[in-house]
Amino acid sequence: MAYDFDLFVIGGGSGGIAAARRAAEYGAKVGLAEAGRLGGTCVNRGCVPKKLMVYASHFPDQFEAAAGYGWTVGDRQFDWPTLIKALDTEVTRLNGIYGTMLDKSSVQLFPHYARFVDEHTLEVGDQKITAEKILIAVGGKPVKPDVPGIEYTITSDDIFHLPQQPKRVVILGGGYIGSEFACILNGLGTEVVQVIRGDKILRGFDEELRTEIQTAMAQQGITLMTHCELIAIHKTETGVDITIATPEKQEHILADAVSLAATGRRPNVQGLGLDNTGVEIHHGAIAVDEHHRTAVPHIFAVGDVTDRVNLTPVAIKEGRIFADTEFGNKPGLMSHAIVPTAVFTTPEMGTVGMTEEQAKAKYGEETIKIYRSRFRPMYYSVPGMEARTLMKLVVHQPTDKVLGAHMVGDYAAEIIQGVAIAVQMGATKADFDATIAIHPSSAEEFVTMR
Ligand code: NDP
Repeated sequence: MAYDFDLFVIGGGSGGIAAARRAAEYGAKVGLAEAGRLGGTCVNRGCVPKKLMVYASHFPDQFEAAAGYGWTVGDRQFDWPTLIKALDTEVTRLNGIYGTMLDKSSVQLFPHYARFVDEHTLEVGDQKITAEKILIAVGGKPVKPDVPGIEYTITSDDIFHLPQQPKRVVILGGGYIGSEFACILNGLGTEVVQVIRGDKILRGFDEELRTEIQTAMAQQGITLMTHCELIAIHKTETGVDITIATPEKQEHILADAVSLAATGRRPNVQGLGLDNTGVEIHHGAIAVDEHHRTAVPHIFAVGDVTDRVNLTPVAIKEGRIFADTEFGNKPGLMSHAIVPTAVFTTPEMGTVGMTEEQAKAKYGEETIKIYRSRFRPMYYSVPGMEARTLMKLVVHQPTDKVLGAHMVGDYAAEIIQGVAIAVQMGATKADFDATIAIHPSSAEEFVTMR
């Protein structure tokens, strides 16, 4: 049977666009449905506008440092609407670039939602479209806890469109998003209270790094409330009243206007018509094998909708490997084992490989040696600022292999990206030691630790 397309991609985010373009490069006839702005979560309401906000939030520290270096820094004021407008302009520019890239790759764009009618047929807007292979790359969306009054909270999707800067914000959640926005808003001058149910932010990361960031955030004036269970949210005349239970008592926290629920994300599986297919859902995510294949052999899924490692570069790689395998005759397998990542808190975290806790649990405490360096970077000593950097290597002594490299401090993401190549290649501590340092830099500590 002849199909309208060799491949139809549902979702124009990082994974979907990468797969569509790569498949088209191999000569496949490709269609893609995206009802919203091109680029998905990352470009429109995630990594990109968030990172721009991180840059904006760092200026007060830079002004302080500048004064220490002899600059006279005049009156300074921050204008939230100017930032929001600038973010939107940049995102719109990127949407355009994605559109041009799809055009150049001859991927046909359908600006509509797509829904399965049967396993080879999709309803896209008011058209029925058939495809030999279908890729689901629809991402995820924020999920809020189910408590009374939760509708009075916003999510990270909304924060990029707030018309006015909140004076005081309550952030629920201590993951990537909650912690990043706590730092961003604090840096921009909002009073921040972060409420978490555990004892520390950023669960799953190296314990020492979590402590380092949490301590630094407290020093910057962010109030962290731990061991809190969210009970209810009530609207008041001036904002919201958040009732939380701690092990000792119930408390009320008042937010002027905004409270941000950053309590995780879930795959976007609703509305796809999956009931009309044999595609299976496990724990709310589309179940796929190591070739990104669902229970239906010609339907595939990549990215956050599969809830494996929910990061943009992972979705892109999954999408490209899918296209290489299915359309390029270059079979490949995606490894989720060593995935470098960064958390753009202030200070920033960059990390690759095993945490100290994971390495000790896997190989035994006595086989793991930790190398660490904690210092005040040169940049801060002249202006007398207190920012610290922590770097850490997790080494398996019997093989000398570096299992993990972690950093909290300026440029952690930039530095760890390079170190990740070595960790990915299986470098030993001796390889790190044999590498000549770049001096003076912070990064050199990674090759001089004893
Ligand atoms: P995370 O899963 O990272 O964190 C969720 C947070 O919410 C945790 O602190 C969790 O607590 C808490 N939580 C969950 N449910 C409840 C509840 N019912 N009541 C109270 N607290 C709750 O999710 P995020 O939303 O922060 O981020 C989603 C994903 O987006 C990340 O996993 C990441 O993959 C991606 N992302 C990546 C970024 C980057 O690369 N820099 C930046 C932003 C997002 P507990 O720890 O106790 O479970």
